[in-house]
Amino acid sequence: MPSRKFADGEVVMGRWPGSVLYYEVQVTSYDDVAHLYTVKYKDGTELALKESDIRSQSSFKHRKSQSSSSSPSRRSSSRSRSRSRSPGRPAKGRRRSASQSREHKDDKKKTIQETSLALVVLILLKPSENNTKRYNGEPESTEKNDTSCIILEQKLKPDLEIKRVLEQYSLRSRKDDKKTEEIFSERKTFVAVKPIEKVPSKTKELEFGGRIGTFMMIFLLPATVFYLLLMCKQDDPSLLNVPPLPALESLWEWRVFGVFLLWFFLQAVFYLLPIGKVVEGLPLSNGRRLQYRINGFYAFILTAAALGVLLYFQFELRYLYDHFMQFAVSAAAFSLALSIYLYVRSLKAPEEELAPGGNSGYFIYDFFTGHELNPRIGSFDLKYFCELRPGLIGWVVINLAMLLAEMKIHNLTMPSLSMILVNSFQLLYVVDALWNEEAILTTMDITHDGFGFMLAFGDLVWVPFVYSLQAFYLVGHPTTITWPVAAAITVLNCVGYYIFRSANSQKNNFRRNPADPKLANLKFIPTATGKGLLVTGWWGFVRHPNYLGDIIMALAWSLPCGFNHILPYFYVIYFICLLVHREARDEHHCKQKYGLAWERYCQRVPYRIFPYIY
Ligand code: NDP
Repeated sequence: MPSRKFADGEVVMGRWPGSVLYYEVQVTSYDDVAHLYTVKYKDGTELALKESDIRSQSSFKHRKSQSSSSSPSRRSSSRSRSRSRSPGRPAKGRRRSASQSREHKDDKKKTIQETSLALVVLILLKPSENNTKRYNGEPESTEKNDTSCIILEQKLKPDLEIKRVLEQYSLRSRKDDKKTEEIFSERKTFVAVKPIEKVPSKTKELEFGGRIGTFMMIFLLPATVFYLLLMCKQDDPSLLNVPPLPALESLWEWRVFGVFLLWFFLQAVFYLLPIGKVVEGLPLSNGRRLQYRINGFYAFILTAAALGVLLYFQFELRYLYDHFMQFAVSAAAFSLALSIYLYVRSLKAPEEELAPGGNSGYFIYDFFTGHELNPRIGSFDLKYFCELRPGLIGWVVINLAMLLAEMKIHNLTMPSLSMILVNSFQLLYVVDALWNEEAILTTMDITHDGFGFMLAFGDLVWVPFVYSLQAFYLVGHPTTITWPVAAAITVLNCVGYYIFRSANSQKNNFRRNPADPKLANLKFIPTATGKGLLVTGWWGFVRHPNYLGDIIMALAWSLPCGFNHILPYFYVIYFICLLVHREARDEHHCKQKYGLAWERYCQRVPYRIFPYIY
C-alpha cells in the first residue's frame, strides 16, 4: 500500500476541483481505502482530493515565481486574449507606461492571490458576468439565477474564463499549462468522482446523545409506542391514568406475525415488479450513482386493489384493530431482527459504502444510526424500500381498518366526520409521498443516514403505529365536530399541504435541474460545491419551509380529535421536536458542506422554521 505523502494538520496547496487553481488548505484526514485526502479550505469548505491534486507550499511558490516569466507562448496567448473582459483589464484604447502596467499587474496578482475562495467560486460559476463586478464582490450579482452556470461539468465557458484569468495572473504552475480540451476532460473526471458528502471517514461528532443516548433510545422508542397504544385503549386516556401492563403472552401471536410477514413480502414483490421508471440517485462518495425503481404509487394501487378484493370477499379488516398491539409487537420484533442483520452485514461492507453519520466505531451508536448507507441485496435497496412501502402504505391500511372498526363498534352507517377528516388528510399525505417518490432520493435519510435500528424501527413501527394514533383514538373516543369546524380544519390542512408540497418541489426541481426555466425567477447564492442555495421563493421565507408545512398539517390531523385529551396531540408535539432537532442536524451538515455561503444564507434568511419565532 503506498504511504501517504501529506500528514494530518499539514498546510499545503490544494487544487480547486475542476480548475487549475491552488489554494492553501489544511489536511484534516486521509482515507487509505479511497486514497483521498480530506482538506479544509480557508472558508471552511471541506473536500476530498487526490494526492496528485495536492502540492507542498514550497513547490508551489517556486513554480509560481517561475510562471510569472513571460514566455513567448504566454505573451502570444495574452495578446490573443486582449479583447476579453477580464477583471482589471484596461479599457480599450487606454495606454499605460511599462512601470504602471507592471505595478498594476502586481496589484492584480496580489488581489487574486488574496481573493477569498468564495470569490474564486464566483469566477468559476459566473462566466458570463463582468468580472470587475465579481471582484468587487457585489452580492446581488451572485444571486441572480443565471442558468448558464452552476453545473460545472456542463459548461465550457467557465474553463475558458478561468484559463484567461489564470494565464493573466500566472497563478498556476507550468505543469498545468494544458490544452483547454484537457482541462475539460479533467473537470469531467472530477465530477465523476466528486463526493456528495465527505468521503466516509470515522464519524467524529456523535448525534442523538452519543453512545448513551442511542442506547437509551433503543429501549425508549419501543416503550413509547407501546405506552401510547395502551393509553389509547383505555376509556380514560389521561396522562395521569397509567395503563396496567398487559400479560406478556397476550402480546404475541404467530398468526399475527405471519400476516405481518405476508404484508412485508407482498410489498417487496410489488417493489420488484418491472413497472415504473428507473432513476439515478445523487452521486455517492465514490462518484457512483445507484439506480432506483420508482413504482411506489403502483404498489399503492395494487395494494388498494388487493384490499378491495379482500373486502369484497368479506375479509374482516377489523382483525387489525383487534390485534393492534400484537401487530405492533410483530413489527418491532421484525425491525429488531432486520437491524441486527443490517449491522452484521455492514461489518463486511467496504469503507466507502458506510454512512457518513454512522461510522463511529462504537457498536451501539452505529447499530442505532445505521452503519451502511445503502444496503442492497442485488438491486433490492432495503432502506429505500422500507422508507415508503410497508410502513407508509401500512399506515393508511391501518387507518382504513380503524374507520371500519369505528363503524362496526358504534353501529354507524357512515364513519364520523372526524374519522373521515383524519383518514382523508393522511391518505393525501401518503399518496403525495408515493406520487413524488423520486424526491426521497435527495433527503437526508437516503443521502446521509445509514440503515440501522433508527430507520428500520421508524419506518416499520413508528410510522404505521404512532402516526395512526388519531384514527385509533377516535375508535374508542368518538368525537363530534361541526361542519364549520371541519371546514376550518380542512383549510388549515390545505395551507400546510400547499407550503409543504411547493417548498419540497421547488428545492427538488432546483437540485435536479437548476437550469429549469420554471425556476428562472428564483435567486440563489452559489456555493463552493457548485450547488446553489435558494434565497427567494419558499427557501427565502424560512430555512426549512417544508417543515413548516408539515407541522401545520400535523396540527390539522390532531384537531378533529377535539380537546378532551392530549393523547391525539402527541403526534404534533413529537413532530415539532423531531423537526426542530432534524433542522439543527441539517444546518450542521450544511454548514460543513457550504461554509461561508451557508452563513450568508442564514444572514439572508434568519428564521429556521417559524417566521419571526424560530
Ligand atoms: P429537506 O428536504 O428539508 O432537505 C434538506 C436539504 O436541502 C439540505 O441538506 C440541503 O441539501 C438542501 N437545502 C437546504 N437549504 C437549501 C436552499 N436554500 N436551497 C436549496 N437547497 C437547500 O430534508 P428532509 O429529508 O429532512 O425532509 C424532506 C421532507 O420530509 C420534508 O418535507 C419533511 O417535512 C419530511 N419529513 C417527514 C417526516 C415524517 O415523519 N413525516 C420525517 C422527516 C422529514 P443539499 O444542499 O445537499 O441538496
